[in-house]
Amino acid sequence: MQRYEFFLYFCRMKSIIAGPCSVESEEQVLKTAEFLATKTAVTTMRAGVWKPRSRPGGFEGHGEKALQWLKSAKEIYKLSIATEVATPEHVELCLKYGIDTVWIGARTTGNPFLVQKIADSLVGSNLMVMVKNPLIPDWALWLGAIERMETSVIANVIAVHRGFGTSRHSQFRNSPMWEIPNEIKTRRPEVPMYCDPSHIAGRTDLVFLVAQRALDMAMDGLMIEIHPDAKHALTDGFQQLSFEEFEHLISELAKENACDEHRPLKRMRAIIDDLDEEIISALAKRLKIVDEIGDYKRQNDMLALQPERWKKLLKKRLELGKRHDLNEDFLVGLWTAIHSESLRRQET
Ligand code: PEP
Ligand code: MN
Repeated sequence: MQRYEFFLYFCRMKSIIAGPCSVESEEQVLKTAEFLATKTAVTTMRAGVWKPRSRPGGFEGHGEKALQWLKSAKEIYKLSIATEVATPEHVELCLKYGIDTVWIGARTTGNPFLVQKIADSLVGSNLMVMVKNPLIPDWALWLGAIERMETSVIANVIAVHRGFGTSRHSQFRNSPMWEIPNEIKTRRPEVPMYCDPSHIAGRTDLVFLVAQRALDMAMDGLMIEIHPDAKHALTDGFQQLSFEEFEHLISELAKENACDEHRPLKRMRAIIDDLDEEIISALAKRLKIVDEIGDYKRQNDMLALQPERWKKLLKKRLELGKRHDLNEDFLVGLWTAIHSESLRRQET
């Protein structure tokens, strides 16, 4: 298969939605639509016309005027259009301008009152609805919003994983916490799950990593932010890919995922990688406290090895392990190793 054909094939196989974070001008929208329609196999363009900003005073979107520009792009380039809605009035305007898909943004999903109002305003429409995860890592709140939408719309409701605002140290703008979309996937395997690597990554150079990971997790599609002139974007400038970067990203993903074999194994390994990361970070935290204990013992003329404490600690860990069905010999070996490292650090 030729590179370009492969690129087309990949875009269809995994649904890919792309477009700018915000609609900034008619020219920007038409340029993006032309690129998608002529150079890629993407059939849905995303673009926000109402932008929820953390602080007032920034660019908050062109609103209804921008819907008219999206309508033109749809008519000229035959693309399906997706935009964010946060109120029933937004839904009404989207229906008026022939928008095909609406998404509920992360800041809205966290508010069940608002989600219900939007769901009520969707009754009888055939809009496709995407529900982004809420900012807090609460799978029930996310699933609740999906369920509210499901009772109102006939078309499929799609979940979109865009990461979570947490204090966990992470290189990403929003922590992916893959276990949360995984929980939704386990409970509702028939609900399509897309990933928005742009908002998770927060930086163009990390988008590939997150997108690849989403495919390893067997997600059903991607929503990616692209912009004809990202440096001058009015919102989310650091994470929007140029057209060339987007083409490169898709062809790299196509290469990496050419062989779909052993996908369940890849998915399980991806979860193991996350858990190992957590174990290492917990071990590092533990050893930092151990260093402080070492200083305390030195200042108070105490020996590093305190046999009574070690005996009690091991007994408690074995009891806990037993409750989780863990093998006792394994735990003795593991905690002996951890304890030896703790002693070594206190003695040096
Ligand atoms: C967006 O998609 O541009 C957006 C604002 O998304 P989120 O609600 O995920 O922050
Ligand atoms: Mn954005």
